Amino acid sequence: AEDRSFEPAESVCPFCGVGCGIRYDPATGAARGWAGPVNTKGEVCPKGVAAWDAVDHPDRLTAPLVREDGALVEATWDEALARVSDAFARVRRDHGPDAVSFFASSNCTNEENYVLQKAARLFGTNNVDNCARLCHASTVAAMADRFGVGATTNSFDDLTETDVFLVVGANPAENHPVIFRSYVLPALRRGAELIHVDPRETPTSAAATHHLPVRPGYDITLLNALAATIVDEGLVDEAFCAERVEGLTAFEAFAADVDVDAAADRAGVDPAALRAAARAYAVADRATILTGMGLSQHACGTETVHALLNLPLLTGNVGRRGTGVNPLRGQNNVQGAGDVGALPDRLPGGRPVTDPEARAAVADVWGVPAAELPAEPGLTEVEATHAFGGEVRAAFVLGENPAVTEPNAGRVADALDALECLVVQDLFRTETAEHADVVLPGSAWAERGGTVTNTDRQVLRMRPNATPPGDARRDLDVLCALGARLTGRPDAFDYDGPESVFAEVTAATPPYGGMSYEGIGTGSQRWPFSEDAAEGTAVLHRDRFANGRRRAPLRVVEHVAPVDAVADDELVLTTGRVIEQFNSGALTRRSDRLVRMRGTETVQIHPDDAAARGVADGDRVRLANARGVTTAVAAVTPAIRPGTVFATFHTLEPLANALTGDALDPVAKIPEYKHSAVRVSVD
Ligand code: SF4
Repeated sequence: AEDRSFEPAESVCPFCGVGCGIRYDPATGAARGWAGPVNTKGEVCPKGVAAWDAVDHPDRLTAPLVREDGALVEATWDEALARVSDAFARVRRDHGPDAVSFFASSNCTNEENYVLQKAARLFGTNNVDNCARLCHASTVAAMADRFGVGATTNSFDDLTETDVFLVVGANPAENHPVIFRSYVLPALRRGAELIHVDPRETPTSAAATHHLPVRPGYDITLLNALAATIVDEGLVDEAFCAERVEGLTAFEAFAADVDVDAAADRAGVDPAALRAAARAYAVADRATILTGMGLSQHACGTETVHALLNLPLLTGNVGRRGTGVNPLRGQNNVQGAGDVGALPDRLPGGRPVTDPEARAAVADVWGVPAAELPAEPGLTEVEATHAFGGEVRAAFVLGENPAVTEPNAGRVADALDALECLVVQDLFRTETAEHADVVLPGSAWAERGGTVTNTDRQVLRMRPNATPPGDARRDLDVLCALGARLTGRPDAFDYDGPESVFAEVTAATPPYGGMSYEGIGTGSQRWPFSEDAAEGTAVLHRDRFANGRRRAPLRVVEHVAPVDAVADDELVLTTGRVIEQFNSGALTRRSDRLVRMRGTETVQIHPDDAAARGVADGDRVRLANARGVTTAVAAVTPAIRPGTVFATFHTLEPLANALTGDALDPVAKIPEYKHSAVRVSVD
């Protein structure tokens, strides 16, 4: 690190979507929290403390790599970028621009995502997506359909007024810990209640007043039973429904036919506990929903979220402080990556690529003829990997590790190898980079300037704390250089740093129209903040929903059978996160302190299921299905419900996604991560 300069400056944690302020601390040589707009006391979780470990890690890539005679060897930037632009131009000439796919990243800044989607579209394709597709696409689709936008309805600060938290398929005590400690726990101490819907006992359920350990695959059944109880017990907010809701009569007729006891039984929960939870939610003055990937990551994810959205509408819990539906984002820029257009069907500002007026508006900002912007929606991430080697011949992957994070990992590995040219831009030789033809060294959080948009829609500024190591360059500079080469339009990528990109983002993205770097400063500006507004909007849907309508519809949702049928000798694998690791583990598996904290990685199995298979605590077990095999150490514990096993997706052993299926939700194209049939045996 001798050739690098380190200087503390206010930045944002690169991990979850809470958006804590962190910066380099010269006294400890590590990261440290500062009192940012979210973590107002400067507190951070273990991952925030360890954020520096990847920045200064000896495995960092310090020069571009190109594949020669089967091996990745160092190259100059000019050689590497020429290799990319030549290969992509050849594929476009032979197969058309849609034979190239671009993966942006919800772990990169608004500016980086904006430049990459601009490069893709000026190259001629809408095949650009980001990894929010894998975590919250279904939440966004259902909320946009019903409320007009897919973003969190309320702010973190609203939680100070919440009386009941309904936490569905999320574990914020571990995965969004600063918000849990700063807002949820203080509310519980003043008497608020917490209903936790999750198949596992976790630190979140330990703090809960109600725990409904739902059977994986039966969320819709459980949510319908909650709604039916609210209707049956006369707890519908009639005044709110008369003013703001459509379809109450039809929904009440549907609810009257739900046998709550039978539904609770199918969903694997106690009917009395379910009714008590429904009552607590419905009678609260202000109830909020916090959701996570346990809800969204299903091949029926959009329908599942639709079933959830009936609850706030029935009970008047939307459009006021302390209420609403708030999906907890897993990465620091899940919201912003989509806002600025890193989506195959949306231009910056969420406008459809199929809308000629939207294309004309964006083309005007870019100074190009509107006819140059592709008008057909492109491929989503998993659709693209399904097309690798066929319809798609080349791919660019920014800061993602699909070899570990995409479902059906065995198929993904083959798909990556089937490409004529795979380009990966990352900090390390990740599992995906090992398949690449060109690897570009990327920049860590502490080396980038720019903005990210956190879970509660606050746009926050990142500032460089360090220069990149060796010949590594800042991601934004690399993307601009690449954009100029791929499109032959150097003027379109000639920016004077992230601030000038952000100025263009605000021109091309109406919900960001009133923002500026100066206005954000060391605080934040909240989306949506249009050009003519005095400030951003904390509570959405107050008098009208974001689609301009006064009313939102209730919707009858029927149970959708999980894709994997489960044989008598099989268990259901569900996957998730832990506090000490992050996503594919590319950063956090390289942190000695986090690896030590986590200890041995395990797969949770219930004592009854373990006994039936002769598995003892600490045994090495084999998990297998038709898609793949992986092994792990068993943790035999009643914290997981019978019939279910739990593994994290952060590790290579177990490699949970060797077993998950790649069936997609028909609307949001999110895969099924939470319900995979597996056989478990002693290894
Ligand atoms: Fe980073 Fe999230 Fe932890 Fe805050 S809560 S320090 S944003 S991982």
